[in-house]
Amino acid sequence: MTTELDKTPCDILHGVGPKLSSLLAKRCIYTLQDLLFHLPFRYLDRTHLTVLRDVRAGDYVAIEGIIESHRVSRGPKGSLICELKDASGYIILRFFHFNAEQMRHLSVGTGLRCFGEVRHGYQGLEIIHPEYLHLTPGRALDVDDHLTPIYPSTEGISQFQWRRLSDQALALLAQGAVLGDHLLPMHDKFSLPYLSEALHYVHRPPPNADRLQLLAGVHPMQQRLALEELLAHQLGLSRLRRALQSMQAPKLGDAEKLTQQFLAQLPFALTRAQEKVLSEIRADISRSEPMLRLLQGDVGSGKTVVAALSLLQAVANGYQSAIMAPTEILAEQHYSNLTQWFTPLGLTVAWLSGKVKAKARRETLSAIQDGSAHIIVGTHALLQEAVQFKHLALLIIDEQHRFGVDQRLALREKGLQQDYNPHQLIMTATPIPRTLAMSVYAHLDHSVIDELPPGRKPIQTIVLSNSKRDTIVTRVEEQCLLGKQAYWICPLIEDSEKLQCEAATKTYEQLSLQLPHLKIGLAHGALASKDKTEVMQAFKNGHINVLVATTVVEVGVDVPNACLMIIENAERMGLSQLHQLRGRVGRGSSESFCVLLYQVPLSDTAYQRLDVMRSTESGFIIAEKDLALRGSGELLGTRQTGIGRLRIASYTRDSALLPLVKDMAQILLSTQPLVCDALIARWLAEGLDYGQV
Ligand code: ADP
Ligand code: MG
Repeated sequence: MTTELDKTPCDILHGVGPKLSSLLAKRCIYTLQDLLFHLPFRYLDRTHLTVLRDVRAGDYVAIEGIIESHRVSRGPKGSLICELKDASGYIILRFFHFNAEQMRHLSVGTGLRCFGEVRHGYQGLEIIHPEYLHLTPGRALDVDDHLTPIYPSTEGISQFQWRRLSDQALALLAQGAVLGDHLLPMHDKFSLPYLSEALHYVHRPPPNADRLQLLAGVHPMQQRLALEELLAHQLGLSRLRRALQSMQAPKLGDAEKLTQQFLAQLPFALTRAQEKVLSEIRADISRSEPMLRLLQGDVGSGKTVVAALSLLQAVANGYQSAIMAPTEILAEQHYSNLTQWFTPLGLTVAWLSGKVKAKARRETLSAIQDGSAHIIVGTHALLQEAVQFKHLALLIIDEQHRFGVDQRLALREKGLQQDYNPHQLIMTATPIPRTLAMSVYAHLDHSVIDELPPGRKPIQTIVLSNSKRDTIVTRVEEQCLLGKQAYWICPLIEDSEKLQCEAATKTYEQLSLQLPHLKIGLAHGALASKDKTEVMQAFKNGHINVLVATTVVEVGVDVPNACLMIIENAERMGLSQLHQLRGRVGRGSSESFCVLLYQVPLSDTAYQRLDVMRSTESGFIIAEKDLALRGSGELLGTRQTGIGRLRIASYTRDSALLPLVKDMAQILLSTQPLVCDALIARWLAEGLDYGQV
């Protein structure tokens, strides 16, 4: 019987027991197919030996020699130092960790072949913890006939084990085990390497392979694999779109009267760009196919009003509409805006977050269920089982980069319970470069607000070393005494909200001491929601001069009188995040400043990144640069969204493949449904979100 690699668990291989199986599972490697798609990220050259005279610091080398001397250095943690010699020179091998047996095996006179990276040591060139093999006199060891792959690993699996595993899987493949080459139908039209050829090459490149290309991940054999993965994602998203659009959504006709009333009370006229996207949305929601639209608009471009007018149209047609935001502060801001706009029109806006408890919660839930709540605003609490909409027609998700795909679909299913599917609008202020957006959000139509409301003043951005902090404190004081307000953003502490809140508290105390004449406020994630609201409200009303905050103010907060934004340790933040933060100022009539404080020493790249902030205010330029400097993962926040989570391809590195991917996807979708199924099953197994709709 032929072995099907996608159905064969790794534990049929030699050396794989329960322990290794579970370690592999940690890296989502369950089958031999998974193992073969676990690709090396680096290659070492062990295809030839270097004589010791030619060894240079920084090189990775394979060398041979005889141990000339061996000793343990003095000190509490002695290291084992062996001197290896060949006919041309010598080198030091240094072991920080070693045991008695190893010492015996490395005795004087022993012949060794060693592999490792050479560096400058105290006594000349050395290799720390080389891999080594013992030489038997009279018997020469072969050199490798391919480059040595280095695999991304997990604690507990050595490179030796990875190579042994992939050796076995590759051998099975060579012996005819089945791994469907789903791109075969494309071979005539686009000349592509075969799948098994590509896998053999990428796992065991021949000595003459272009190592630079391989390292950069752009070798044609690697690209063959990346192409397949990108294609699978494209197909998955197209299927998702088709599935969603085969459902029924309520047709939402014009709501002229309410719209006129709404616009009459706005203190401004819509911009041309707002009008344009609004008409795109209206055209969508007037049809019975569910809208699936991404609305991009830079910080401050006025997405909220567009959202409100869309929500209003659903309500005017007798349905409910909802808007969900990723943070409590942002959701509250929407709640306060929408209440202010909609209450005079006789509409009821309901508020739901995880912090709404007991009686208030019960009342809100029943208002949502019986339809007396027209517009529902909330955080992801809207997704909880207890929330039952009477008839949800439109769902708007603000700043969706912070939500998981699963969450989005969960809310959609709530609509489904009533036999129809709500229209969906996803709003984001993270400007995504066009090609990237077309691929990652291939299932969505795109609208862009490409113009800011009139009258915005440019923001002056200053990049300063932290050592100038006191000067900035003085500057803040001067401005605040003139009636201005300031944000003071504390360092981002990766993965620890608690530490971040502590840091903010410390800064708050310090600034309170330094600025006794000013009123300082503190907002961070650990505050009770009531306290947070109070602080934000006090800041908005001008009762607080300086708001010390963690990045919680990043999204949505709108306080026009605030014209100073100080960001500490700006080098730790992504450009898009800095852009969001900076967008909190420059909303009023006075000149605004954004000060980016950094900790020295600052790397060149870090400096370049901050300099981008200084040189432009355009979110799109910033996004392009961010993409170039950091890669797509950060920009898309894929860690959170799961969408676009790629195993081997990269939207940045492989962006040149995207047009090809689009063409292929079109051909396959119309002519090869089974191939589409197979590709989706292979690459999106965990991304059931795409397929199961
Ligand atoms: P974002 O797109 O970042 O969510 P907001 O919707 O919060 O932006 O709008 C930012 C600010 O611009 C708000 O104070 C809003 O009232 C104001 N605004 C929105 N549209 C216009 C407009 N057409 N003219 C003037 N001001 C506007
Ligand atoms: Mg907003």
